[in-house]
Amino acid sequence: MSSHAPVNQGYNSQLPGSYPHLLPAKTLNLASGQSSYHGSQGSGQTLHKPPVASLSVAPSPYSGPVPRMPPPASQSPAAAPRLSGGFPPGASPLPPVNWQHSSPPMAPQTNHCPPEPSQLAVLGNTNLSVHHQYVSSGDPSLQNNYVTSGSALSLRNPPLPTTFQPGAPPGPPPAGGPPLVRAPVPQNVSLRAAPQPSFNSAANQEGITSNTNNGSMMVHGSYDEIEGGGFLATPQFATKNPQMSRGVGYAYPSLPPGYQNTAPPTSATGMPSSLNYRSGPQAFPQTPLGANHLTASMSGLSLHPEGLQVVNLLQERKMLPTTPLQPPAPNLHEDIQKLNCNPELFRCTLTSIPQTQALLNKAKLPLGLLLHPFKDLVQLPVVTSSTIVRCRSCRTYINPFVSFLDQRRWKCNLCYRVNDVPEEFMYNPLTRVYGEPHRRPEVQNATIEFMAPSEYMLRPPQPPVYLFVFDVSHNAFETGYLNSVCQSLLDNLDLLPGNTRTKIGFITFDSTIHFYSLQEGLSQPQMLIISDIDDIFIPMPENLLVNLNESKELVQGLLKTLPQMFNKSLETQSALGPALQAAFKLMSPTGGRMSVFQTQLPTLGVGALKPREEPNQRSSAKEIHLTPSTDFYKKLALDCSGQQVAVDLFLLSGQYSDLASLGCISRYSAGSVYYYPSYHHQHNPVQVQKLQKELQRYLTRKIGFEAVMRIRCTKGLSIHTFHGNFFVRSTDLLSLPNVNPDAGYAVQMSVEETLTDTQLVSFQSALLYTSSKGERRIRVHTLCLPVVSTLNEIFLGADVQAISGLLANMAVDRSMTASLSDARDALVNAVIDSLSAYRSSVLSNQQPGLVVPFSLRLFPLFVLALLKQKSFQTGTNTRLDERIFAMCQVKNQPLVYLMLTTHPSLYRVDTLSDEGALNINDRTIPQPPVLQLSVENLSRDGAFLMDAGSVLMLWIGKNCAQHFLSQVLGVQNYASIPQAMTDLPELDTPESSRTLAFISWLREQRPFFPILHIIRDESPMKANFLQNMVEDRTESALSYYEFLLHIQQQVNK
Ligand SMILES: [Zn+2]
Repeated sequence: MSSHAPVNQGYNSQLPGSYPHLLPAKTLNLASGQSSYHGSQGSGQTLHKPPVASLSVAPSPYSGPVPRMPPPASQSPAAAPRLSGGFPPGASPLPPVNWQHSSPPMAPQTNHCPPEPSQLAVLGNTNLSVHHQYVSSGDPSLQNNYVTSGSALSLRNPPLPTTFQPGAPPGPPPAGGPPLVRAPVPQNVSLRAAPQPSFNSAANQEGITSNTNNGSMMVHGSYDEIEGGGFLATPQFATKNPQMSRGVGYAYPSLPPGYQNTAPPTSATGMPSSLNYRSGPQAFPQTPLGANHLTASMSGLSLHPEGLQVVNLLQERKMLPTTPLQPPAPNLHEDIQKLNCNPELFRCTLTSIPQTQALLNKAKLPLGLLLHPFKDLVQLPVVTSSTIVRCRSCRTYINPFVSFLDQRRWKCNLCYRVNDVPEEFMYNPLTRVYGEPHRRPEVQNATIEFMAPSEYMLRPPQPPVYLFVFDVSHNAFETGYLNSVCQSLLDNLDLLPGNTRTKIGFITFDSTIHFYSLQEGLSQPQMLIISDIDDIFIPMPENLLVNLNESKELVQGLLKTLPQMFNKSLETQSALGPALQAAFKLMSPTGGRMSVFQTQLPTLGVGALKPREEPNQRSSAKEIHLTPSTDFYKKLALDCSGQQVAVDLFLLSGQYSDLASLGCISRYSAGSVYYYPSYHHQHNPVQVQKLQKELQRYLTRKIGFEAVMRIRCTKGLSIHTFHGNFFVRSTDLLSLPNVNPDAGYAVQMSVEETLTDTQLVSFQSALLYTSSKGERRIRVHTLCLPVVSTLNEIFLGADVQAISGLLANMAVDRSMTASLSDARDALVNAVIDSLSAYRSSVLSNQQPGLVVPFSLRLFPLFVLALLKQKSFQTGTNTRLDERIFAMCQVKNQPLVYLMLTTHPSLYRVDTLSDEGALNINDRTIPQPPVLQLSVENLSRDGAFLMDAGSVLMLWIGKNCAQHFLSQVLGVQNYASIPQAMTDLPELDTPESSRTLAFISWLREQRPFFPILHIIRDESPMKANFLQNMVEDRTESALSYYEFLLHIQQQVNK
C-alpha cells in the first residue's frame, strides 16, 4: 500500500496530434436518435458507423495547447519506481509483525533545514509577494470576517465577508483607521476586478507571472516549488536525496464520515471552540515560548490527575465513559494550549512527543498524525494580504507557536531560523495598532486561511469542471439508479459549487461510449456514439464540456431524458475502461471532478476484469484478493492526477465487481468510493434513500481543485508514510486534484534526531487549493506538542483513539503487502507490546492482572473492535467487495467517523428523560448514557439506538413497552411495526419529540445523513446490529474478557 510512483508513467496521456479515424461517430438527437440507437443494438458495431457526417464532428488535428502542468519533480526517472502489477509495492517490504518498531523504510527525509550558519537576522526581502490583491467574491457561507463574532462590524458588508486585509499600509492607520472588513486600497496595491482570470487567456497568464515587485520572481516549475517553498527552500526540498522516494501509503477512498465526539455541549453546530474568534487580541509574550511557558515535565503532571491512575482491566470491566470520549489535552501551559489546533482537525497519537526514537521504540506505540484538513468550519479566519509571512528557510507559515525575539524578528518553530518581520506585518488591522506583529491573526490562530497571491499559481485557477460518467447497460437499467441520480442532479444543479465559469458534461457507456453535445444554441442535446473502444477519441471536445449557465436548459433536458433513453437496452457488456479513458481525455485540458457510476464488473476493452471471488473463502484470512488484478486503474488514476482530475466512483452492484481493482481509480486520484451493494430502485428502498442523501451532500459540499498538501514538522522529526487518497508528488507533497471536506488523512512519523534542545515541537499542514469561485487559497493548521524524556510521560499523553485509527490504517496496508492474518496479528501485537513495555518499564511494583495506564484503558477494546470490523474480521461471511470498501473507509475517513464505525455508540432510548439534557436554541436534547457494546446491556422490554456513524440502528425489543410503541413509533403493537421501517413519525407526544430530537442532534453533527433502520427481532438487519456487540463472544471471535485474558497472558510472559 505504500509506494511512490510518478504520474504519466506507462500510460500515454498525451492526446494524439491528429486522429487517423474517419468519423467513427454518429450524431443523433435525443428524440429521433433514440430509436436509431436502439435499432442498432446488438447488430454489431459497424452499424454505429455514421451514415451521416453532416455535423461538424470531423476529427480535426488536435489544436491548441493543453494548459498543462509542468512535470512534477518526481517524474524524473531517478525517482520513478516501477509500476509493477499488483498493489503498489510497500514502502516497507514486509515489515516485521511488530511494525511499530520497524525502521522507516526508505531513509526518511528529515524535515529540517540546513543549519542556520549564524543566527543573524535574515537580511533581504522576505516579501516575495506581488503587490496586488484579489478581490474575493468569497464563499460567504463558510467564511467569516475577521471580526469578533457578534460584532456589528461583521454585518457591515455582507457581500464581502471573506477577508480582512492586513496587507495594510505600514505605519499608524490614517485617522479613523481602515475599516475592518476591507481596507482602503493602499497605493502599492492594485485591486483586481475579480479573481476571474479568463482561463485561456494568454494575456492573463502573462499578467499572473510577471507581476513581481522585485524582479526576482521565480518561475515555478511545479507545485512543489510553489507550496514547498519557492527558491529559497528548493535546495532542501527538491534536491536533497532526490532518489529517495519516501515510503508512502496510498490510500483508499471512502464514504464521508459523521459524528463529532468533541462537540461542545452548548453548541448546536458543533462549532469547534478553539476556532471561535476570541473577542480581543490575546496578550502574547514576545519572549520565546519555551522557557516561560513550558511546564510539561515539571508541574505539568498535575494536569492529568487521572493520568496517574493505573487500571487493572481484568477487575474493572466498565471503562467505557458514558459520554463520548474526548481527546486528551496536550500537557502544555494554558497560554499555548488555548491557541492550539482543534483536535478535530489535527491530532497526534502521542500528545507528548518522545525525545528520541529509542524512547519511542521503547514505548512501542505508533507515532503519527491524524488530519481532517478541509473540514467544514463554522468559523474560519481568512486573511488577504499581499504578504504571507513564511520562514525563509523551511517555508513554514508564521503561526502561534513561533517566538518573537523582538518586534522585528521572529524565530521559526520548525527550523529555528530567525526571520525578519516584514514591514506590513507590523500593522495589526484588528487592533489598528502598529508594532504588534504578535497580535496579528496569523499569530493568534492555529487554523487560518490565506488568499494566495499569484505566485501560488502555476496557471490561472481552473474553473469548476464536473463530468458525469454513467453506466447505461442493461444491468444498470435494471437497478434503476439513473433515475435517482438524474433527479438528484436536477434538484441540485444550481447548488453545484462554482460560478459563471462552471463547466459540466456527460458520458454514458455500455459496450460503446456515448457523448452528448450540449452546445449553446442547440435545440436539444445531441448524442455521439463511439463504437471503436480500442482507440478512444473525443469528437467535438469543445461542445461536450459546456458552460453550465449558458447551456443549462440543454443540461436539464438531457437529465430528464437520460433515464428513459436506455430502457430497452439489452446490452450487457460494460466498457468502463474505455469510458474512463474518454473522460480523462475530455477533462485533461482543465482538470476537475469526474463522477463515475458503475453497476457491474467491467467486461470489455482495457480494464476488463474477471470474477475472482471465491465465496467459500470469504470467511478465511488467507488467499483473498485484496490487491488489484490489473494496474490499468492505478495508471489511469496517476494520469488523472497529473492533469488535476479526481475520480469518484459510485459502485451500485449486487455482484462481485472487483472493487480492489476499480477502487484504484479513486485512491490515486484523490477521489472517493461510494458503495451501494444490491442497489435496486424497488427492492432496496434503504439504498435508494442512502444514495439520494449522499448525492445531495456530494453534489453540494465544498470542493477544492488542483490542490496540494504539505506537512511540515519541527527539525528532528520526520514523516515516513502517508495514508489517505492522493498521489505523493514529491517526498512530502501530496497531490490532491480534488479535496473535499469529508476526507481524512493519516501520517506516520519518526524521531530522526534527538529533541533535547527543545521542549516543544510543532506540526503544520498547508493545503493549497483553488476554490470553486476561482480563488487560490491556503488553509494552514498548526499543532504544538511538548517533548518528554520519560516513558511514563509518553504513556500519560497517549491518545487511544488516534493510536487505534493509525493502527487501522497501517493494518490495511499490511493486509495488502502481507496478508489479512498478518494484519490481525500486528494489531494484537500492538496492544501486547505497548502494555508489556508499560509493565516492564514503568510500573514499579508488579501487580497481578492486566494493569494499564489510564490513557490506554480502552486500547484492548478498540483493537478488539477493529478485529471485528468488516475490514479485518474473519470467520464470517464477508463479501470481498464489502471488505475492500470497509478498508477504503478506514483509509479515507476522518478519525471520529472511523472510530464510530469501529466502535459504535449504544444508547437506550425508551427511557429518555430531560435529566442532563442539552438545551440548544430552545430545543431540549436528551443525553442518554453511552452503553457498553454487549447484549448484557440490552433488554427485551427496551429500545436501543446504535450510532455507527453512517448508519443508525434502532432495535426494538419484543416486549418493548406498549407506551413507547404507540407514542414514538406510532404503532399499536409489536407485530405491526413495518418490516423495513426507516423513519420515525412526528407524533405530538413528549416521547416522540425527545426521541426525534436526540436522533436529529446526532445527525446534525455530521456532514452526511445516516439512515435510520428500525429493527424488529425477526428483521434481517438484526444480525448487523448484533455484529457490532464487540464485547460479546461469537463463533469465531473472542469476547472482550477472553481477549483481555489473552493479552494478559502475553504481557505477563
Ligand atoms: Zn523555518
